[in-house]
Amino acid sequence: MSWSLTIGRLFGVAIRVHITFVMFLVWIGLAAFHSRGAEAALESVVYIVLIFVCVIMHEFGHILVARRYGIETDEVTLLPIGGVASLHRMPDTPSRELAVAIAGPLVNLVIAAALVVAIGVSTFSPAGMEDLANPGLSMLERLAAANLILALFNLIPAFPMDGGRVLHALISLRTGDARATDIAATIGQACAFGLGLIGLFGYPILLFVAIFVYVAAAEEAKLSHVRQALAGLMVGEVMETEAMTIPLHATLKEAVDLLLATPQDDFPLVDAFGKPVAATTRSEIIAALRSQDPQAPLPSRPAATIRAVETADKALQALSDARVGALCVIDAEGVFVGLLPRQALAEAMMIRAAQPSWRFRRKVT
Ligand code: ZN
Repeated sequence: MSWSLTIGRLFGVAIRVHITFVMFLVWIGLAAFHSRGAEAALESVVYIVLIFVCVIMHEFGHILVARRYGIETDEVTLLPIGGVASLHRMPDTPSRELAVAIAGPLVNLVIAAALVVAIGVSTFSPAGMEDLANPGLSMLERLAAANLILALFNLIPAFPMDGGRVLHALISLRTGDARATDIAATIGQACAFGLGLIGLFGYPILLFVAIFVYVAAAEEAKLSHVRQALAGLMVGEVMETEAMTIPLHATLKEAVDLLLATPQDDFPLVDAFGKPVAATTRSEIIAALRSQDPQAPLPSRPAATIRAVETADKALQALSDARVGALCVIDAEGVFVGLLPRQALAEAMMIRAAQPSWRFRRKVT
């Protein structure tokens, strides 16, 4: 996410802070200074840093549960509404989606419970939660209250908040994924309107949350429609079969000669058996040409491959997981049979939209 800066790493995940989160913290600090002076402002800053730590722990609740299901995460971005962990994908079964989504708010509930026990159950009163800045409350009491609010707020049933995911998982247990996304996105947008209305009547920060939620819900619905448009299609039906390959040990000069003969952007590097073992791109070849001898070996990275018999939906997932422009399509023996750039999936969707019953040529059986 842009407008963010990295402040550290934990479990191999970058922790980033969005500019709006910083503004939110400054706003709270200034408000405390204005009303109660420097000492109160310092105390507020300490309190804010502690909340900040709780938000990070919330995100790592999601991240570590997702990791159990083999889903990695690159970064966590902190926003005024909490944090956003950029999981490579969401789990594909409703029960796993539910587990990942609920893990974050559960972390806050556990922190709140632990703090309440530390304070002494009898002295903690939820009534104090009405005013987090109440100087009559101890830091621990306010922190317990903040964690309760974090948990409840994130459980509002609207994308991209955890409650939206929980709702989506629960609906898809009954209706299947595509329908569930439509329903959950609609409920999410209704919640966004509600939040926006409350925002108009005195909680301006909620207006930002409402806009954020509205846009995210629309994004989610769009992705679901892409999935539906690709449903039932196989990689072998939509791949490009005329793709050019480059021999594994070709030099830069040889690659440039091939590159000039085709408009292709992604090139598989194949071994003597026709198996794609590495891949390179047009721009990587050109960049290497600027700094290296034409007889030098090609710049390359491991090839991202997919079987021709896999579904187009899975290819879409693989493309975003591998963060590449194209997948090398292979047969059962691992031999290169075609290339699947993002463009090929987009074309398949356009053909489907124009002719819903179009029969794609089965290129690989
Ligand atoms: Zn969360």
